[in-house]
Amino acid sequence: MDLEKIVQETYAYGEKYLDQGNIVDYIPGLKDVDPKAYGLALIDEDGNFYEAGAIDTRYTIMSITKVFLYILALETYGLEELRKYVGLKPSSKAFNSLLDLQLEDNIPVNPYVNAGALTVSYLLYKKYGAKAIDKVLEKIRTLAENEEIDIDEEVVITSEHAGYANKAMIFSLQNKGPISKDVDVFDVLSVYNRACCIRVSTRDLAKLSFVLSNDGKNRNGVQLIDPDHARISRTLMATCGTYDYSGDFAVDVGLGAKSGVGGGIMTSTKAGLGLATYGPKLDSRGNSVVGIEMLKYISEKLNLSIY
Ligand code: GLN
Repeated sequence: MDLEKIVQETYAYGEKYLDQGNIVDYIPGLKDVDPKAYGLALIDEDGNFYEAGAIDTRYTIMSITKVFLYILALETYGLEELRKYVGLKPSSKAFNSLLDLQLEDNIPVNPYVNAGALTVSYLLYKKYGAKAIDKVLEKIRTLAENEEIDIDEEVVITSEHAGYANKAMIFSLQNKGPISKDVDVFDVLSVYNRACCIRVSTRDLAKLSFVLSNDGKNRNGVQLIDPDHARISRTLMATCGTYDYSGDFAVDVGLGAKSGVGGGIMTSTKAGLGLATYGPKLDSRGNSVVGIEMLKYISEKLNLSIY
């Protein structure tokens, strides 16, 4: 299989979708991006890279961070304890739906919607205090083998200012739900917002994808995540990773994936491949339009569907 050729073909295929979708507008700091920059990165089983397009462009990881927040929480508390705070079920509502939370008696449906990730951030904050964010950043740097990964402070400011839905949700979680009354929810929001503003490239996301797809081992065979935690992440990515599009994504692409409103999509694959895409214009559910289209294309070409 000529992976180089297929990656280039996938990139060329993506171009016709560049006019579709919109750049996220509820976080002002995310608006100033090149709408035409897009790309994809694939890493084969042996660790070779195949890349096309804006591979080094850096953008905020946004919701993709939720995968790593939950892995840290799994390492800290274990799955059974976490189940008491956050569910494991898919949602038919938007990722920041307050209604979804209320319908579920204020227990977040899963760790990949905002209410779930805010609760996970609370649990990490309870354990590590303000150092929780350092732990998340360190984790992502280690898994992506890139010490230069940092936090976009400008986007942090606008996320904190404009994150009204998250503020509503976190107060609701504290009023009745898993967040205790004695914490300052703004400290928890700070962990969450900073974790969302970690700045990565598509090459970084492909390396993160590689580790998840290889049961927690990186390209040098170093075990960085418990294989069971990698499996849990892949499962949640498949069932909840693209929010209320997850069922369609399972049919259309057939991979685990986690998207973010910064435009990135990190997949988890069978066959030990690392695969990630970027394109800043989003569909109505908050998933990159060109990213989804490129994933549909390459999944079919490489027969990647896990179903
Ligand atoms: N920081 C964003 C938020 O809290 C992340 C959402 C996303 O990428 N879907 O709304």
